[in-house]
Amino acid sequence: MLFPLQGKPDGVELYGDNGPQRQVIPSLRATLCVFVDSSLEEKKMKKEANLVIIGGGIVGASAAWHLWKQGWKDMVIVDQGPLWETGGSTSHAPGLIFQTNGSKLMCKMAQYTVQMYRERDTGTPKAWYETGGIEVARTTERVQELKRRKALAASYGLEGHIISPKEAAEKMPLLDPNAIKAAYWIPSDGDAPIGAWRIAGKLANEAIAAGALEAYGGTWVEKIDVQNGKVQGVQTKQGYIKCNQVLLATNIWGKQLAEPHGVNLPLMAAQHIYAVTEPLAELAGETDPIRLPIMRDQDHCMYYRQHKDSWGIGSYQHEPLLVNSHEIGKDAMRPYTPEHMESGLASSASLFPASANKELVTKFNGMFTFSMDGNPIMGQAPHINGFWTCIGVWVTQGGGAGKLIAEWMTEGEPTVNAASCDINRFHPHSKSPEYTYHRVYKQYDEVYDILHPGMQVLTPRNLRTSPFTRHIKSMGGEMWESNGWERPQWVEENSRFLEQYDDQVPHRTGWEAMCWSRVQGAEHLAARDNVSMYDLTNFGKIQVTGSGAGDFLEYMAANKIQKKVGSIVYTALCNKHGKIKQDLTVARTGEHEYLVLTGGGFVYHDIEWLRRHAPTDGTVTITDLTSSWCTIGLWGPKARDVLSAVTSNDVSNEGFPYFTTQEIYIGSIPVRACRLSYIGELGWELYTEHSYGEALWDTLWEAGKEHGIFAGGFGAFDSLRLEKGYRGWGSDISTDYTPYEAGLGWAVKLKKGDFLGRDALVKAKEAGLTQKLCAIVFDEGGRALGSEPVYDMDGNVVSYLTSSNY
Ligand code: FAD
Repeated sequence: MLFPLQGKPDGVELYGDNGPQRQVIPSLRATLCVFVDSSLEEKKMKKEANLVIIGGGIVGASAAWHLWKQGWKDMVIVDQGPLWETGGSTSHAPGLIFQTNGSKLMCKMAQYTVQMYRERDTGTPKAWYETGGIEVARTTERVQELKRRKALAASYGLEGHIISPKEAAEKMPLLDPNAIKAAYWIPSDGDAPIGAWRIAGKLANEAIAAGALEAYGGTWVEKIDVQNGKVQGVQTKQGYIKCNQVLLATNIWGKQLAEPHGVNLPLMAAQHIYAVTEPLAELAGETDPIRLPIMRDQDHCMYYRQHKDSWGIGSYQHEPLLVNSHEIGKDAMRPYTPEHMESGLASSASLFPASANKELVTKFNGMFTFSMDGNPIMGQAPHINGFWTCIGVWVTQGGGAGKLIAEWMTEGEPTVNAASCDINRFHPHSKSPEYTYHRVYKQYDEVYDILHPGMQVLTPRNLRTSPFTRHIKSMGGEMWESNGWERPQWVEENSRFLEQYDDQVPHRTGWEAMCWSRVQGAEHLAARDNVSMYDLTNFGKIQVTGSGAGDFLEYMAANKIQKKVGSIVYTALCNKHGKIKQDLTVARTGEHEYLVLTGGGFVYHDIEWLRRHAPTDGTVTITDLTSSWCTIGLWGPKARDVLSAVTSNDVSNEGFPYFTTQEIYIGSIPVRACRLSYIGELGWELYTEHSYGEALWDTLWEAGKEHGIFAGGFGAFDSLRLEKGYRGWGSDISTDYTPYEAGLGWAVKLKKGDFLGRDALVKAKEAGLTQKLCAIVFDEGGRALGSEPVYDMDGNVVSYLTSSNY
């Protein structure tokens, strides 16, 4: 059956062809339809399944296809709309795929997606067109940014070239070369021009044909049935499907089914304006949906593509138009608002003169999802077994995200580092409606901006402060935000050290000098000579107690944990693939009591990892102490002089050896002291309850004055740890690497007995290394910021910088 489908962009197929009836409501915009799927009347819905995927857009279909490939059977997809042009965002997207992305994961997922769309596009009509992509620069700053983007792409294995305006115009004849200064050309970018829903349909239909999947359109899911922390089934308008796993591929509707179960997803729907012109004389006779490269003009926040003989215009120029989840309803479209396209049309005309003054024959305003940090939200909800999400994914990453979530659901872990997409990455405040709104607004607003990695958000700020924040600010602390915490990047008062170290601290210029101060360099050198105090309060502190605590941590860790009380161990926690899920230190503070010390950024991700593996028989208790304790790092060659002046405990090397912990008193303040240092100098991490924090700071500061004590910032903290060669989880090491590849093989004790990841590590050790984390020192320093590619002498990219500092 063929049903007319009205108001689609030219070049998009004008007919749906798989049966569901659409009732077009004439009073609404042409593109708004109510979908009625008759397929359920013919096909009885299953009453029980292994997995129910809610959402038949590109994400749900790609997940189903990959799950089938990984051996899953008895799966169901349900969608409110007709299959596969469901009326969700996948049905609206003009389908441009620009693969370059600052995030390694997002760039890799996009590359996989292109490869997959290319390989699966075997029938007619063609669903994937590999046109190449061009990003143009109208300003000198953008030329530099495009060069950085090209370098990033090279780091992540994507070919790209900086080309001249003339070369760009040769590839894209509509382009006025005089309007740009340079361009970035990516040969493998392309477009799913007749609707990515066709690709979704192809994927799902393969799984259906193999007998692994059934799919029902016209089926609205009312709620997910959860009991005793486990998924039990899915209640649809057409009936109940019993299942113990559910995957939300519900895009803008993600919050609605999750929130009733306390699964708070920090995302919002964003309206997005797109239009297609009347035919252009310059494109007369074009029969392909698209032949010319897809285009981006980030300086004007615009993107473009050809639709046969017409011109498609997408705009991020307008203010973010965000929609709360309870206001979405069931329709992914909003009325088109011409005022939000007006200035975008002028931008188009200035770059593509042929598009000037052309009538817009198709105009629409579709919604899609932005999360608070711009990344997808994927994985299993923290407290509900079988409750999975894969939301906030573009068509660009649709293939890769499907693969990733399928691995996650099959193996318990994806094969690559997905921490930046993990549903467990969010700190409590980041799920509040206000915070989500501000951050999503910023994500949309800055989607094409030139963003320096050091740039700070301006609002909301001052959410989390330590007892030391006041002191640091009063000394001119340049405060940066980290997961809601305020931390100094450098402290202006320390500029006095520049008098001493002036000739050793560079004068950087340009991009490298942004969000940087020479004071950082001075703090670095002063920390090597004197004694410094760092506010480490935001770092994760997880207490693990109970009669089973030792055995449990022994199973989780690659290093030997159950040493004598008072010992500290550095270890990786590996996943079953033998990759580094986290690196951290574990202090044995009692017979059955351990303090797990970890970075601040991923503390919830780490807690969830521990909780998910902990025995449920009451022998292990996991408590997050991060916000109830505060921490000072007292570090530098004079740290012992300061500490011994304020405590009667023996803090000599013999009395308090390296990598040990003791409870001591500093003045009258009870402190858990750990002889550790991430900056590679003598010193202690000093933990106490928040209420004692002010007194702890004052006591140490007073005693330190005669030793030149100062408050250090995290700029120097990072350069100091790099100089020492200490790894940073997330940048240098992650689940992309084994401890052997990360140079941490010394902390793997294969002989200690079974532990998580051991089998994989035995195999990895036998197989030997094919990649290894190395340190590079530049002759001329101060240029790199991290993620830059490393070329061999023949110009081949052999690696990239995981982190860098001066
Ligand atoms: P969807 O395609 O929206 O699928 C989700 C499905 O879930 C829907 O079909 C919906 O009916 C179903 N559903 C939700 N809740 C329920 C329920 N309770 N019961 C039953 N069914 C339910 N991306 C790009 O990469 N390139 C582009 O050029 C591009 N351009 C875009 C232009 C516009 C105007 C828009 C709106 C989006 C654009 N995007 C683009 C973004 C992209 O389209 C989406 O991010 C992507 O399609 C999301 O896929 P999905 O499968 O997650 O969501």
